[in-house]
Amino acid sequence: MAKNNQELIDLINRLNAEWGRQANKVIYRLYDLLLQGVKIDTAISAVSKEFPEVFKLDNVRAGLIEAAAYGYGIVPGVVAGEVKKEWTRNLADAWDGSGMKLSEKLHGAEQKMHNMIVDTVRQQMRRNAAWTDAARALYDGYEQGGDVVRAQDLPQYIKQVRKATLGDRKAIQTQKKALGNIVRLGRNGAPNKALRASYVQLVKAVQEGTEEQLEKAIQVAVNEKSRYVAERIVRTEMARAYADGFLRKAMDDEDIVAIRFKLGTRHPKFDICDLYAGADLYGLGKGVYPKNSVPKIPVHPHCLCRYVEIFIGEINMKEQDERVQAGGNEWLKNLSEARRKEVLGIKGAAAWERGEDWRSYMRSYVDFRAPESRLGNINTKDVFPDVRVGEYKYLGVCPKERIMDTLKFYENIFLPSEHENAIIIAKDGRTFYVKGREANVNINVLSDDVLQGAYMTHNHPIDQTRYSFSQFDLGEFFKHKFSVLRGFDEDFAYEIKRKPGTLSESYDEILYEFSKDAYSKVLDKNFIEGLEIDMDIDGYHLINEILAKKYKYDYRRMANGYKRG
Ligand SMILES: [Zn+2]
Ligand SMILES: [Zn+2]
Repeated sequence: MAKNNQELIDLINRLNAEWGRQANKVIYRLYDLLLQGVKIDTAISAVSKEFPEVFKLDNVRAGLIEAAAYGYGIVPGVVAGEVKKEWTRNLADAWDGSGMKLSEKLHGAEQKMHNMIVDTVRQQMRRNAAWTDAARALYDGYEQGGDVVRAQDLPQYIKQVRKATLGDRKAIQTQKKALGNIVRLGRNGAPNKALRASYVQLVKAVQEGTEEQLEKAIQVAVNEKSRYVAERIVRTEMARAYADGFLRKAMDDEDIVAIRFKLGTRHPKFDICDLYAGADLYGLGKGVYPKNSVPKIPVHPHCLCRYVEIFIGEINMKEQDERVQAGGNEWLKNLSEARRKEVLGIKGAAAWERGEDWRSYMRSYVDFRAPESRLGNINTKDVFPDVRVGEYKYLGVCPKERIMDTLKFYENIFLPSEHENAIIIAKDGRTFYVKGREANVNINVLSDDVLQGAYMTHNHPIDQTRYSFSQFDLGEFFKHKFSVLRGFDEDFAYEIKRKPGTLSESYDEILYEFSKDAYSKVLDKNFIEGLEIDMDIDGYHLINEILAKKYKYDYRRMANGYKRG
């Protein structure tokens, strides 16, 4: 299945949009408070309390679970119960070179945003004060001595305006016009009403101008500077959580043999990501890495490069050959000199020309490692402690293309459990958990419209398993016309798939077939054909093979690829 990381991009965009909406409210509120004469420090504390999501980036935490779920290939809703708690804890851990936990990063960002806003506003207020003072001086001069501004004083005053407004064209024009009026009226000699009105006009324009500049300063501090801080955290942390989810799945799923590094769609700068995506470093093709040696994503802040899974059979793993230095050399040789300097630096490019190892100079290069996911195995024996035996819990809707990944996700998680657990996904995607006992799980607590044609998986605890489906499992498969039934234990995963020609069988008949007919055939093999079958391990498996042929469905049993520990 071709995959892209559109869900990650959508998630990032959504978080940024949410932030932006609240940030706009912050701008107006802050402006309001400052106009009322509230001091900037007090004002910023007030808006922080009023809009914590802007400064504390609260939704980053919730976003991490979502990103990790999408990275795994499942929808966030089905990450529930103890798994959700554990993922939340794990995703708050440090992952990058800074060694900082999420809470420390968020706290740092909050401080940074505060300081940026306070500094920007203070600077503007100082400039505004200088401008207001200059205008006042003109006005006072007129009031006290009847001095009229002289044409030659204008440039000096306009310089103040320019400084205060950072060269704002409109403000300068307005001030020039007001001063022009004064000079013109002043030429007529004695102070008069019209001239006085012009001075008042000037001072009023200054007031409006400074307010506008203040609003602009707040806009810049929040909507540009703070937004940059917020978006950098969102993008980088989400990218990592997504990678954590992806790597967890890659480790869980033995069918995934290699990982492709793909350049992010928005990748404006030529850098080491281009090398990771474009060089053949392991003999498996450009940008392809064996599962135990992958570049760490994100490679740098804002990096939206991604992994793509490669399944068994898609490439020939026998060609694997560690050739990192040679592969890098090939890639560098194909670059222009200018490009080489971009990734190696001027000194590095020269050193490489002299035959030195590019790895000592490549910017941001880190040796490849086995994938590390912050999402470790879940070792809890009871994922849904709030659900009682024989009861169910609704987990949400799972899209069709994610059904198998969702079943497998829970298989890994239910493995240590001492009782049976079932996940059932209805044809329309509604997903349910049912808690069972030591040796069975009663899925009939769910209504028939859920069960008909559903997809199901369940575990067989280590003390109870017969390493394949029981007659009761098969009975349910036929009774509800399941599309797929999976089961698993410490050693095997097994699967039945309905196909177009699959016969319909009654529940009772299959129970009979299983325990009488097929069972005796297997026993015959043992005693008559003398095939020393270990009935505990392979008995049920052989019965399932016989029945699959008879009723024309697909059955297979696989060594369980899940790695615990
Ligand atoms: Zn990148
Ligand atoms: Zn079973």
